[in-house]
Amino acid sequence: MRTVKTYPEAWPLHTPFVIARGSRTEARVVVVEVEEAGVKGTGEATPYARYGESEALVLKQIATLLPQLQQGLTREALQQALPPGAARNAIDCALWDLAVNQQQQTLWQLSGTAMPSSVVTAQTVSIDTPEAMASSALALWQNGATLLKIKLDNSYITERLMAIRAAVPEATLIVDANESWQAEGLAARCQLLADLQVTMLEQPLAAGEDAALANFIHPLPICADESCHTRDSLPSLRGRYEMVNIKLDKAGGLTEALALAEAAAKMGFEVMLGCMLCTSRAIRAALPLIPQARYADLDGPTWLAVDVEPAIEVQSGKVIITASAAD
Ligand SMILES: [Mg+2]
Repeated sequence: MRTVKTYPEAWPLHTPFVIARGSRTEARVVVVEVEEAGVKGTGEATPYARYGESEALVLKQIATLLPQLQQGLTREALQQALPPGAARNAIDCALWDLAVNQQQQTLWQLSGTAMPSSVVTAQTVSIDTPEAMASSALALWQNGATLLKIKLDNSYITERLMAIRAAVPEATLIVDANESWQAEGLAARCQLLADLQVTMLEQPLAAGEDAALANFIHPLPICADESCHTRDSLPSLRGRYEMVNIKLDKAGGLTEALALAEAAAKMGFEVMLGCMLCTSRAIRAALPLIPQARYADLDGPTWLAVDVEPAIEVQSGKVIITASAAD
């Protein structure tokens, strides 16, 4: 018989995080702990309002599965028991972690993936005035970050991007509009991005308006984030996006995320690995996807005033995987 604990946590940010949909001052996560014969597994997820999730809903979804979890629900059975989302993610990651600790293998060994020692991660410049965004980009660059993810909404696109490019002429820039742009005018904006050597544009249009990207010739790759959750999302993205942003919270866990990465690669999509505002616990769970990702965007914990554990460190634009994280 397993013991299962579920609880929410709030982690204050050191700086407000601003994207097209709004501003955040704390990361609110849900944690699942599963214990079996003295061995524990922990999983974390971030409920996301954009996908109809609240902390209360996610806690309730987990509570409905408690009897089955206590009686030994497997990861395979879990995939059918809950829809993709934060609740399934927290449980899935707890079950992976439990298996890691029970079998005394690493998450890489268990998932059949290769462990890198470190990986370059994007660091986010959140929305502000052009001057403030340029100085934030410069500060990140001076601190060693080489890949910057620029959050934009529907205004001051040229001003913001030109100020940032002038401040960090050599940085690799990717742009995330978080669904805030319209099809009309998109071509001119894509050209502006290409002229400023931006290397990728993430989710310019609202999910559901992907059809506007069909037969749309664009000079830089476009990546689906809000439009891509699981393998079921892929057929409608074909011919519209070149890349998909995989996040454990959207996929409903590492199990589906690994399957999604494999299916996406087979269909010719490049993969980006992303995260929500979260602690290092959530980053650690996603690490097996790193070898498949062209871009890793795992800076969630760098926004926290204090992080949960030191095993994963993000410094100088890199996720450093210490020996203890491999356990
Ligand atoms: Mg995004």
